Amino acid sequence: MTIAGVTVYLKRPIYLDYAATTPVDPRVAARMIPFLTEDFGNPASSTHSFGWRARDAVEQARANVARLVGAQPGEIIWTSGATEGNNLAIKGAAHANRRGDSGHLITVATEHKAVLDTMQDLAREGYRVTVLKPGADGLIDPAQFEAALQPDTVLVSVMLVNNEIGVIQPIAALGALCRARGVLFHCDAVQGAGKLAIDVDAFNVDLLTITAHKMYGPKGIGALYVRQHPRVMIEAQIHGGGHERGMRSGTLPSHQIVGFGEAARLALEDMASDNDRIGRLRDRLLERLRTVPGMVVNGSLESRVPHNLNVSFALGEGVSLAMELDDVAVSAGSACTSGSAEPSHVLRAIGLADALAHHSLRITLGRYTTVDEIEQAADRIIAAVTGAA
Ligand SMILES: *Cc1c(COP(=O)(O)O)cnc(C)c1O
Repeated sequence: MTIAGVTVYLKRPIYLDYAATTPVDPRVAARMIPFLTEDFGNPASSTHSFGWRARDAVEQARANVARLVGAQPGEIIWTSGATEGNNLAIKGAAHANRRGDSGHLITVATEHKAVLDTMQDLAREGYRVTVLKPGADGLIDPAQFEAALQPDTVLVSVMLVNNEIGVIQPIAALGALCRARGVLFHCDAVQGAGKLAIDVDAFNVDLLTITAHKMYGPKGIGALYVRQHPRVMIEAQIHGGGHERGMRSGTLPSHQIVGFGEAARLALEDMASDNDRIGRLRDRLLERLRTVPGMVVNGSLESRVPHNLNVSFALGEGVSLAMELDDVAVSAGSACTSGSAEPSHVLRAIGLADALAHHSLRITLGRYTTVDEIEQAADRIIAAVTGAA
């Protein structure tokens, strides 16, 4: 099938793994192509029109990405994705704002590995790291959070939407507690961008990470918001050339950036209608899966994005649901068949028994999910579960 000159493959299996990555929207791909072929100039080339055209496109994209999160364009730093963005935010802010020769950091046990592993690296350097445990619903309690803040807390990192269970943390409330004590607050907002209204001021965040490939943009491009008022200092992790106001050097990938900008613009335009449609599909899927005895939903259903369903089934050991479901592309809480592999750190952190975590599915819907796909996926999941029970 061809949309806007771009071939789109609509083939089996049914894709219900939008939290892992999304296809590039054909409207985004169409905007990117001229920046690979004709308008290929280096945005840093200031002496000719090839450079000027690329720079203008990059700056337009920066404005679109800034608008998506309620920031000023000058507060957006391009990165290679959210893994780099989280590293730059956390290491960069910890190093630039260290008080004395140590410091205290706070994060949450259900964060993405790009946050948890970065925190662990800083712990090896001598920082003290508190890893908060959320409740069974996956949410952080603001009172418990406040009690964890210490006089030398430098930085806190809490995600907006969890990538496995889709729950939405009370970011604005946590941010207010940090702001009142002068503690820097970073938010990994990857799974919320394009799904929730994000406003860096209302959220009280100083640093916020997003990435294009989770919101119908290309892989390999992300953005870090760095607050300018009051100015937040971060130390560069990649040196050379002084691009992005010295915070992240390297020739800007203009085609990727143009794609990200268009994806951000479309996200704002389509957010309400996408959420409404996707939420109804998710609720229909849940209604179907509720017919399976012993099914449980992991994490809060109320404080959750409409795109996510994470469920567990009571099954015997040695059963691998994901293997049974070779025609439905979903993620499993554990990829193993023997039951010996580590279950998901997120499901463990919310207190789910390993036996249930081993038989969990993360089903994530997106812009191209159809009613037909949901009915077929429900049929197949129910058949796999009841066949395996
Ligand atoms: C996907 C993801 C990341 C990593 O993003 P990349 O751009 O793939 O490096 C970080 N955090 C969350 C919550 C994610 O879902």
